[in-house]
Amino acid sequence: MARAAESDRWRVKPHDDVDLSSEDAASTAGAPGDRKATEAELPALQQRLFELHDRLWAEATRSVLVVLQAMDAAGKDGTIKHVFSGVNPQGTRVTSFKEPTQLEQQHDFLWRVHRAVPRAGEIGIFNRSHYEDVLVARVHELVPRRVWKARYDLINSFEALLAHGGTTVIKLFLHVSRGEQLERLDARLEEPSKRWKFRPGDLAERDRWDDYQSAYQDALRKTSTNVAPWYVIPADHKWYRNWAVSCILVDTLDHLDPQYPEPSV
Ligand code: AMP
Ligand code: MG
Repeated sequence: MARAAESDRWRVKPHDDVDLSSEDAASTAGAPGDRKATEAELPALQQRLFELHDRLWAEATRSVLVVLQAMDAAGKDGTIKHVFSGVNPQGTRVTSFKEPTQLEQQHDFLWRVHRAVPRAGEIGIFNRSHYEDVLVARVHELVPRRVWKARYDLINSFEALLAHGGTTVIKLFLHVSRGEQLERLDARLEEPSKRWKFRPGDLAERDRWDDYQSAYQDALRKTSTNVAPWYVIPADHKWYRNWAVSCILVDTLDHLDPQYPEPSV
């Protein structure tokens, strides 16, 4: 079973000088064994996650927000599909953040995000998030430098506000290598069941790989706090990624230790 020390392995300490180029995306460090042995542990972790979420939902006083960020094809959708397949859909809320709509653009960058945060009892999952506003917005100069630069502090304050209100925030960066991303994008072009996911723009984004890595690195360095830590998950191996994310969720909820309320009769 997961222990606190397990998820510490991937946690970015506040002000850590993260260097993504030295983080091995294919690492399987700490796994219980090879793919088969590690996947064999997943049902027990999923059961544990189900039970803890059931208590969180019943207790209905606190919430958990899981922020997923990664390059295209790094496995955000797959993580949601696999890790959360066993939890009660009632009490779970997934929000995917796309290019802001006109209405969203007419507000501050946190407006749409704040509306989507989980309410008490829920696990909220963000598939992309407010971090796009210091990633794609920075790489493509969608706003001037001074604007995106000011956002790191604003994000830290926002997440501190959420924590103050009873939301435990955990942020997961799925770290995939450039080679693995290419293979997955190729697979999207070749396999009919995956082709719908491919967008021509994905290749243009891939060309900006180094710019994105720098932007991610800065975000990890500036916004990993005690109340809203980042975790860097080696994600070239999907089985390892699923196991690591499951461990982090179970550890986080274990720590919260939600309780069934006393019966009112
Ligand atoms: P996907 O996650 O593959 O469906 O793609 C969603 C797209 O929306 C990505 O290309 C993101 O970069 C883009 N996106 C999400 N949030 C923002 C944002 N705040 N500003 C600009 N583009 C965004
Ligand atoms: Mg995509």
